[in-house]
Amino acid sequence: MRESHGLISRSDRAERELTRLKHQLADELAYKAIHDPLTDVYNRGAIIDIISTVLTQRQASLIVLDIDHFKRVNDNFGHPTGDAVICELITRVRHALGGVGSIGRVGGEKFTILLDNVALQQAVLYAQRIQDDLNRSNLAALPAYQVTASFGVSWAPATTGFDTLYNAADAALYEAKQQGRNRVMFR
Ligand code: GH3
Ligand code: MG
Repeated sequence: MRESHGLISRSDRAERELTRLKHQLADELAYKAIHDPLTDVYNRGAIIDIISTVLTQRQASLIVLDIDHFKRVNDNFGHPTGDAVICELITRVRHALGGVGSIGRVGGEKFTILLDNVALQQAVLYAQRIQDDLNRSNLAALPAYQVTASFGVSWAPATTGFDTLYNAADAALYEAKQQGRNRVMFR
């Protein structure tokens, strides 16, 4: 009798552990589905969904950030160093934003920052804060080389489509690149 009680409680425990593992696995899969594995920011699909959803209800600003001459970093220092540069730069971005905004990776070395319910002027200040931070000190991953980025900033009222807001920021980014990089442009 005592033995069969022992068996039952052991199988209860095993079942509870299995349920816990199933939930853990489901959580991990859900997390992976919307995050970029290198930098842990939102992946492209997820950030587009988030921006689109916010725009159905509120105004928003968008910063598009693209690392300058990143191909040179890979060519001169190797792909693993390039990866480390991307990761550390994103850590700097997070720090400069101080918890504000949602960061997403929209391309290889191109990121976007959603500033929900933030006016253009304020968004430009955030972009400048990130730019200043990068210019103030080199990354530990590449101490003898200055990594810079260019920024395009845009704003749109509620009910604007994602493409309109993103294309405006991207056009401003293009201008920043054209005008010599390591600068913030907005429209
Ligand atoms: P620009 O200033 O005009 O943006 O020049 P760029 O060199 O940054 O732009 P380009 O598009 O010519 O090159 C981007 C490079 O970024 C090419 C690609 O191999 C590299 N890249 C993209 N994703 C990753 C990544 O995850 N890791 C590393 N190490 N490199 C990446
Ligand atoms: Mg680039």
